[in-house]
Amino acid sequence: MLQSQLFTKTRKEAPKDEVAKNAQLLIRAGYIHKEMAGVYSYLPLGLRVMNNIVQIIREEMNAIGGEEVALTALQDRKIWETTGRWSDDVVSSWFKTKLKNGSELGLSFTHEEPLTALMRDHIHSYRDLPRYVYQFQTKFRNEERAKSGIMRGREFLMKDLYSFSKNLKDHEAFYEKTKKAYVNIWKRLGLGDKTYVTFASGGSFSKYSHEFQTVDETGEDVIYVDEKLKIAVNKEVLTDDVLKDLGLNRKSLVEKRAVEVGNIFNLGTRFSDAFGLTYVDESGNKKPVVMGSYGIGPGRVMGAIVETLSDENGIVWPESVAPFRVHLVLVEGKDRGVARKEANELYELLGQEGIETLYDDRDVRAGEKFADADLIGIPWRIVVSEKTITAGAHELKNRSTGKIEHLAEKELIAKLK
Ligand code: ATP
Ligand code: MG
Repeated sequence: MLQSQLFTKTRKEAPKDEVAKNAQLLIRAGYIHKEMAGVYSYLPLGLRVMNNIVQIIREEMNAIGGEEVALTALQDRKIWETTGRWSDDVVSSWFKTKLKNGSELGLSFTHEEPLTALMRDHIHSYRDLPRYVYQFQTKFRNEERAKSGIMRGREFLMKDLYSFSKNLKDHEAFYEKTKKAYVNIWKRLGLGDKTYVTFASGGSFSKYSHEFQTVDETGEDVIYVDEKLKIAVNKEVLTDDVLKDLGLNRKSLVEKRAVEVGNIFNLGTRFSDAFGLTYVDESGNKKPVVMGSYGIGPGRVMGAIVETLSDENGIVWPESVAPFRVHLVLVEGKDRGVARKEANELYELLGQEGIETLYDDRDVRAGEKFADADLIGIPWRIVVSEKTITAGAHELKNRSTGKIEHLAEKELIAKLK
C-alpha cells in the first residue's frame, strides 16, 4: 500500500483525556480513533492488525473443532429473564434500549443465554454431541472504569466459544484441549513467554476457572506467579487452602500485575438446566448437556501487545500481527528521480514476491518518515536513497532489535520471504 494513499495521519500528541499507553500510541500512529471514553473505532492499519489477531484465533479454534457463527447484538429480554440475568441488580453492566412499542431489548454483553436457547433446535440425541460453537462478535458493557484504552472497552470485540458435551468427562477433555489451543494462540501472537495459565474463581460447577494473564505493570489484575511451574494464581482466590490444593509454595510465588487476555469456564448444567437443553443418551435416558465457555478479547490482546512490546519510539509489532511486514521508506535527495524509480521498482518486486509492504512514497522530510516508521512499528524497514543506490545495497532495519544490515536485492528478498 502507498502511504500517500492512507487517509490516516500520525500525530505528535494523543488526546489529553487518554491515559492508557496502548491507546495513546495507537491513536498517535493512526490505528484507532477515540470516539469517547472506552469506545474506539478501528482505522485501516488498526483493522489489519485486528484481522490478523482474529485469524490466528480462528485457525486455533477451527483446529479443535470449532464452528463459527454470528449471533445478534440485540437481545430478547425473555431469554435473559430465564436465568435471572436481565436484572440490573444482577448484571450491572447492561446497556438496554427500547422498541417503538416500549418493550425493552438488551445489547449483548455475553451470549450463553441466546446460544443455549438456539441449540435446543439442533441438539436432541447423543449423536448431536459434542458441539463447539464460536464467534467474533461485538459486546457492550457499561464498564465503570474505562482507563485502560482498548483493553477495557464499553464496546469491544470478543471471541466467545461455547462447548456442549455429553458429560463431565468429555467436557474436561475439551477444556484441556482449549487450554493448549490458547497457549498456541499466545505464542503465535508474540505474548507466549509473558502469559500464564492462572487459577481464578470457579463457580457452582468447579473449584476454579482458568484465566490467561499477560504480565504487564499497567494490568488491572494482581497474580502470583510460580516461574518454575509456569502457572499463576489470581490474588482474588489466593488462600492457604488453595495453595495446598495446587502444591504451590508461598515462597516461590512472585506478585505481578497482569492483563486477563482470555479465560475458560466450566458452566456445568447451569444454562442447559435453565433452558431445558437436554439430549437422549445411548440407553434412552434424557440428560442435561454439560457446557463450557471460552473467551478472548482480540482488542485487549492488541492493547496488551502494544503495552508490553513498545519502546520509547513507538509500537513494535510481532511479525504475526503487524499490519504490513515491510515498511519501505523512500528518501529523496537532489536527484529526485533516481531514488524514487528504484524504490518504485523494489515496491513492485516485493509485491510480486508476496511480501506485504507499506511504501512511504510521501514527499516529506526523511526525519519525519523515520519517526513515523518507528511509531507505526512495522517489523522490517527498508530505506532506499541515493546513498543506498551508490553503495549498491538496500538498508534493512529490524524494528525490534534495531539491527541494520546492507543487502543486495536477492539477499533482501530471500531474507524477507
Ligand atoms: P474482566 O475480568 O477483565 O472484566 P471478564 O472476566 O468479565 O473480564 P469475560 O466476560 O470472560 O471477561 O470476557 C472474555 C474476554 O473478553 C476477557 O478475557 C477479555 O480478554 C475480554 N474482555 C472482557 N471485557 C473486556 C472489555 N471491557 N474490553 C475489552 N476486552 C474485554
Ligand atoms: Mg475476569
